[in-house]
Amino acid sequence: MRSLLLSLLVFTAAAVQAADQLKVLIVDGQNNHKWDITTPVLKNALESSGAFTVDVTTTPPKGSPAEAWQAWKPVFSDYAAVVSNYNGEPWPQNVRDAFTKYVADGGGFVSVHAANNSFPEWKEYNDMIGVGGWGGRNEKSGPWLYVKDGKLFRDTTAGNGGAHGPQHEFVVEIQNPEHPITRGLPKRWLHAKDELYSKLRGPAENVDVLTTAVSDLTAVKEPNNLVLSYHKGRVFHTTLGHADYSMLDRGFYTLLQRGTEWAATGDVERTAAVPADFPTETAVSVVKLEGYPKQEAPKPKKP
Ligand code: ZN
Repeated sequence: MRSLLLSLLVFTAAAVQAADQLKVLIVDGQNNHKWDITTPVLKNALESSGAFTVDVTTTPPKGSPAEAWQAWKPVFSDYAAVVSNYNGEPWPQNVRDAFTKYVADGGGFVSVHAANNSFPEWKEYNDMIGVGGWGGRNEKSGPWLYVKDGKLFRDTTAGNGGAHGPQHEFVVEIQNPEHPITRGLPKRWLHAKDELYSKLRGPAENVDVLTTAVSDLTAVKEPNNLVLSYHKGRVFHTTLGHADYSMLDRGFYTLLQRGTEWAATGDVERTAAVPADFPTETAVSVVKLEGYPKQEAPKPKKP
């Protein structure tokens, strides 16, 4: 009787956990980055929290015929959040419309690194991400968003959107410690070798800059984790994650988990625990993943 009760309890706990997990869809397939190497890291970052189940949808490769695109029909509305690891050709109009409707109706969207280079011409997408880089972005795309002297600036001076120097480790600093995504985390931590995106431009509306890092190029605090609202939807936008070694960082894992949960539900409960190995201001915390990193970080150039 006791063992039956125990197994019933175990079964119930497992069922509750499964029912409580959030369904997430990662989109990849084209990128000027190694999406085939980084998507498994994103998947691991989400799944290792126990809070998510993750599917991946891969677009046709660059230059595919229209029939290949017509066969790509992700059902965004089946998911609590969509994570983009995509930077490539425009999606077909029907998919763009479905995605816009999904987020506007309350879906969660997470933009990772070069996903904010995507779709410079797609207005709704740029409203969702707030700011982006490259792809011809300039002052016509919107202001350059940064933090200086504790204030958020929207700089409308003419100039191209998107810049970064050589990859390096850098300190990420929390600007809003009250948000569920940053709550309880150290004010500053050292992030693994990555590109420090700067001079990002866009509509920059309905945006809350959660964290920044000081750029060598601009000497101001450039946003690197942001949240936005798009109608009823929530967007978590991280500019971090150039390579697998940039993502295999306990700070990145934690922000991606919390950001995805927040985008999906509007709060952070399942992923609220601060990991014991969270990085400090002086030490990066590397996440160990079997077979990784596959990419080799560039060595700093000798002066
Ligand atoms: Zn990059």
